Amino acid sequence: MSARLTGLALTGPGVDRDAEARTDPGLLGRLLTLPATRVLAIRDGRLPVTHADGGTGLAFRAPSPADLDAFAIYLGRAAAGPGDRGERTAYVGVVEAPGAGDHDAGFAGLRSIALSLPPVHGALAATLSALANWHATHTHCPRCGAPTTPVQAGWVRRCSADGSDHFPRTDPAVIMAVVDTDDRLLLARGRGFTPTGMSVLAGFVEPGETMAAAVAREVAEEVGVEVADVEYVGDQPWPFPSGLMVGFRARALGTELRLQEGEIEAARWFDRAEFTAALAAGELHISGRLSISRRLIEDWYGTEIDVPDAAVRRT
Ligand SMILES: [Zn+2]
Repeated sequence: MSARLTGLALTGPGVDRDAEARTDPGLLGRLLTLPATRVLAIRDGRLPVTHADGGTGLAFRAPSPADLDAFAIYLGRAAAGPGDRGERTAYVGVVEAPGAGDHDAGFAGLRSIALSLPPVHGALAATLSALANWHATHTHCPRCGAPTTPVQAGWVRRCSADGSDHFPRTDPAVIMAVVDTDDRLLLARGRGFTPTGMSVLAGFVEPGETMAAAVAREVAEEVGVEVADVEYVGDQPWPFPSGLMVGFRARALGTELRLQEGEIEAARWFDRAEFTAALAAGELHISGRLSISRRLIEDWYGTEIDVPDAAVRRT
């Protein structure tokens, strides 16, 4: 798959997930006694941050004895460089109990730091955040209700009663820049947006549906427009809590808008001059730089858009 949108936050590269190693039941115990292992803690969804070396990064640490009793997840190794034959850095996520008061100083929510992180840090943070969310909310077997326990270095939960395995879930959503024959972009204000917030359309992929079909269905449902030439342009993990945003460009076959009641409060076509003017006048606010939504809009616009991040959603 060739992506036109490159360098999206949280996408890496730089991590080898090293999935084969997860089958070794002694893996985590061994890695957590090696001083070279880099431990990434997560507390209540928040990650440790350092501002050393002039930039923002995750504050990895060496393993501590307490980690052997904590819930740990193998995140993988540093990707091999050309001709790389030596041991590569191993990364282990450790879910720590929230500290009392000041103990959580230096921890931050992923959304607030994601744009500043080096690619390797972003990919590790996205993986650990998504997995920690999943473990916290999938503690029991969906078949029989018995408790499940983590196996495969934190990548599977196994039922204690019937032995069934359960895998981390990822919820794919499509997000699409819909453009008309005059190269105008469709933006919409959904339920829960601020009075000036607008975005490209998006929606979850339904069971039994292809991504291209989901794009066409969502656009038809939300604004009553038929689309063609649905083209993949890039995708981004969105671990808030378990999303994968898959970005597309699509060509509108008509321009008449019929808004979905209760879901879409406003929608309109923008040419570049109208878009520029609306932004400058403060009549329009668009999603922040972290999101693929912003990148889809900039891809249409032709350049980066230099406006400060502002709230687009009320929640
Ligand atoms: Zn069960």
